This record gives sequence, C-alpha cells and structure tokens, in this order.
Amino acid sequence: MRLTVLGCAGSFPGPESACSAYLVEADGFRLLVDFGPGSLSALQRYAGLHTIDAILITHLHCDHVLDACSYVVVRRYAPDGPYPPLPVYAPAGAPERIAAAYSTPDGPVDDVYTFYGLQPGTFPIGPFTVTVDRVSHPVETYGVRLEHGGRVLAYSSDTAPCDALVRLAQGADLFLCEASYLDGADNPPDLHLTGREAGEAATKAGVSRLVLTHLVAAWGSEAATYEAAAAAFTGPAEVARPGARYTI
Ligand SMILES: [Zn+2]
Ligand SMILES: [Zn+2]
Repeated sequence: MRLTVLGCAGSFPGPESACSAYLVEADGFRLLVDFGPGSLSALQRYAGLHTIDAILITHLHCDHVLDACSYVVVRRYAPDGPYPPLPVYAPAGAPERIAAAYSTPDGPVDDVYTFYGLQPGTFPIGPFTVTVDRVSHPVETYGVRLEHGGRVLAYSSDTAPCDALVRLAQGADLFLCEASYLDGADNPPDLHLTGREAGEAATKAGVSRLVLTHLVAAWGSEAATYEAAAAAFTGPAEVARPGARYTI
C-alpha cells in the first residue's frame, strides 16, 4: 500500500502544512484517513478531486474533519451533476456535526455521504482490513491499524499514552504517530503524546519505522521532538512532511 501525507499540522494549519489528512492507496482503492482544514487543496495536488473511494474520520475535532464540509460542495454541486454518496466511517455524531458545520439551514448531508458509525473492532474497507480502537483523548477517538497484503500501517490519531495504541501499532511496518507536545513541559493529561512518548510507544509495539506527525509548529520545536523520539526508539524515525509518500 502507499501512504501520502496530505496534511500533518497538529491542531491548526501550520505555515507549511494543512491539518491531518492521509491518503492510503492499494489495488487502485483510495482511502482518505482524516480530512483536516486545508487538506482538500493537497488532495487535488496528489490525487484528484473525485478519486477517493472512502473516508475514515478518527474523531470530530475540527482539525481532523472540517474539509469534509468543503467537500460537500465538490460533490453536491459538481458541473457534471451530483456524485453518488461516499462511504464515511466516523464516530457517532459525525452526520450532524458535518451538516451543522457546513450550513445549518441546508439540512443533512446524506446525499453526499453514507455514514458508518465506528466501534472498536475489525472490518473491511475496500481491500484494507481495518482495526480501530478507542484511544486516550477527550472525545470519542479511534486509533487505526490498516492491513493489506501482509503489510501494516498504524496511525495514532490524537492520543495520550495508552495500551490500545501499542496494540494497534504492534509490529507495524510504518507507525504514523502524533507528537504534539514538548517533553518536559507541563502538559495536561489524557490528550496528546510528546516525542519521547511516541518513541516509547513505537518501541513497545516493535514497529519497523516511526513517522512523527501532528506536531504544532507554532508552539513546539521540531528538532527537540525528533530528538526525544529518536532517544526512545532505535529504529528509523522521521517527521512527516506534506507531500511525503511511503510505500509500505
Ligand atoms: Zn488533532
Ligand atoms: Zn483531537
């Protein structure tokens, strides 16, 4: 499978990147994982407006979902006519949230999206075997494990350290893991990881490669986050970049 980073800025768009959005492709199927602000722009650069086959939203914080509102226009009002509903796998409440953020008087968006509520477990999306589980974040949030052809991509979503994260990432070929906070800072609990905590999760899970994401450029230090992660994980580690592509 192939991963393309469309956006990797944590919490709000950064000077160089949209918010969280990751395109995962296999067998000609394109799954978009998260759809944060600004990522619809990058989608057109690396794939195309109408090329995605399904969307998985890990949680309903605005930095992971808001471009699903912009995308309503793309599908509903296309010059060649409305496009058929697209499958969206998301936490409960996603239909109402996306419809309200799009435009309250316009009503539901079920002409654009067919929603499937996420619950912990394993299920197929196209050619992928998808496992999701609740992670440690203030709203209903799912970490993700995607398997295809014997290869594994794991994605933390937003989370503090937790057992579910390590289970989801177990033996992953690539672990896309958030590292929002600076080590040593007085960080609030049950919200996000530091670089060191991302490295520790990668080590516990025995992953092959760690890609740090969801760094908050304006508030953090990329160098310090990377160094803290690399000190806790001896395998290859790097910081995600918009437009980066990985063959897994
Ligand atoms: Zn976030
Ligand atoms: Zn969040």
